[in-house]
Amino acid sequence: AKEKGRNDFQIFNTDMKSVSINRLKLESELRRAIVGDEFVLYYQPQVDIETGRIVGVEALIRWDHPGKGLISPNYFIPFAEESGLIVPIGEWVLRAACKQNKAWQNQGYPMMPISVNLSMRQFFQHNLKGKIRHVLEQTGLDPQYLELEITESMTMDVDHAIQSLLELKELGVNVSIDDFGTGYSSLYYLKKFPIDKLKIDRSFVRDIMVDPNDAAIVATIIAMTHHLNLKVIAEGVETEDQLHFLHENRCNEVQGYWFSPPVSADELEKMLKTGI
Ligand code: C2E
Ligand code: CA
Ligand code: CA
Ligand code: CA
Repeated sequence: AKEKGRNDFQIFNTDMKSVSINRLKLESELRRAIVGDEFVLYYQPQVDIETGRIVGVEALIRWDHPGKGLISPNYFIPFAEESGLIVPIGEWVLRAACKQNKAWQNQGYPMMPISVNLSMRQFFQHNLKGKIRHVLEQTGLDPQYLELEITESMTMDVDHAIQSLLELKELGVNVSIDDFGTGYSSLYYLKKFPIDKLKIDRSFVRDIMVDPNDAAIVATIIAMTHHLNLKVIAEGVETEDQLHFLHENRCNEVQGYWFSPPVSADELEKMLKTGI
């Protein structure tokens, strides 16, 4: 394949055909997408391992590009983060997710938290607490039904992270650490962070049945969360064997293709009605 220039960005549509888009063009297209409401949220169920019931959903953004179809976040979130556009995009996600969860509650679906991914820039944004409070007030969602996912890299500045997390906890929302195990993780500080849940990264879950090291890591993370009184969810669960392993090791919740990929709101509603 031809080398792409530094100023180009590879994006892929759902058929995984790559299209190279100039950064400037991507930026202007993303701006248009923000104003023109071209984003949609998909929802992936989080399942209680004991009951098999859906006890939460993670909201995951897609870009419904007028010419290119649904575009995966992997191909625009990194650029959005780099350019700062992640801030308005992240606000759209937060509002859309809270609004959807409130709508489900109003329609009589079981009450459950919706998880929203926070980017680094959002996490360190001035007055993040005020902005989230505003969205909760506007949408009428009770804070206990919102969960914010941050990554380990956001906790590197320990004092700053603790301060931001305390503010979020004052609002009454839940916080989880996403992709746990892949980044900087000081176990010493982990107990000082006011968080509720760890999400074990899918790279560990993927090989638990074939790699004894990964199995040991996952079992150890789970045991540790119980000692720290945190909840734990395993990401990327794709097989029944993985599910059994996680069950035997007392993981609380699971998320992954074994139960369901991320789906549209309509499809999620069907699952909520009939079970997975
Ligand atoms: P993430 O937060 O780690 O989200 C989980 C990703 O794993 C999702 O990819 C999901 O579709 C995928 N996944 C779930 N189960 C399985 C499985 O069993 N096997 C495999 N192979 N994959 C699985 P998705 O939706 O493409 O999102 C990719 C990443 O984009 C997310 O990773 C997150 O870092 C970012 N992202 C998505 N939505 C948002 C958003 O609204 N805001 C921000 N800041 N980032 C977002
Ligand atoms: Ca996530
Ligand atoms: Ca993750
Ligand atoms: Ca990830």
